[in-house]
Amino acid sequence: MERLLKNNRLREFLSVHKIKGVLFDFDDTLIFTSEIFRYYMRQFSSNLISECPNLNFKGFLNFLEDTNNNSYKNHAVNPKRWLNVINTISQRLNFDGDKYKFLLHEYDKTIMQIYRTVPRIIPGAKETVYQFSCAGMQTALITHADEVWTQFKLSATGFDNFFPPNRVFVVDQDKHKGPEDWLCAVRSMGLLPEEIIAFGDSLPGDIRAAKSIGVSVCVWLPSEWVMYNDGNVPEGVITVEEGIGHAIEKLIENT
Ligand SMILES: [Mg+2]
Repeated sequence: MERLLKNNRLREFLSVHKIKGVLFDFDDTLIFTSEIFRYYMRQFSSNLISECPNLNFKGFLNFLEDTNNNSYKNHAVNPKRWLNVINTISQRLNFDGDKYKFLLHEYDKTIMQIYRTVPRIIPGAKETVYQFSCAGMQTALITHADEVWTQFKLSATGFDNFFPPNRVFVVDQDKHKGPEDWLCAVRSMGLLPEEIIAFGDSLPGDIRAAKSIGVSVCVWLPSEWVMYNDGNVPEGVITVEEGIGHAIEKLIENT
């Protein structure tokens, strides 16, 4: 009964706002991705410390995070950015010869596991996508990542059953996700920006980008990554701290 009421109120919300489609970001919107980065960066730091006792774990981890953030600014989400990170570390620590080989070995053993690990699904994510489909919405994914890694995550989590290939828009991994990418995805759905609800965890790449092209309903699922929670939250954005599983009830409150 409660579920039926919720469905009806969702349909009412969609009708009031003249919404026809929903565009979801993938990483840290539907699946937990940044926790994988954090885990393997800690692992990498820990392995390095055990070989270099003069290094301090916390200090090195901070250095690794800063170096990764800087590398992201220039190389976006391309996993190749990690080679820049490794080179910066080796220069800072004066690693050459066998020590450089050790660094590369650790990089492959830990950092590259990021792209081989099956992410956890965020509670309520599949149910939320399903509820929008049941309410007659077109649903699609706009993700900023390596193509092969995207396919791996889609099939490993079963989200490929929700988003067939023609409903997955992969943004060039060598640039930053921006308004033009959102517009391209919306147009591919045959819709207008104002007919869309946008979901994402990145303020610059998802929320401000979608807002700037005229998406009227934007739902921000705050990211823990400093590169994604930086800057202002545009007026009218619906923030859901509790995660996507609570997004529909938050939307309904805003009817
Ligand atoms: Mg994301």
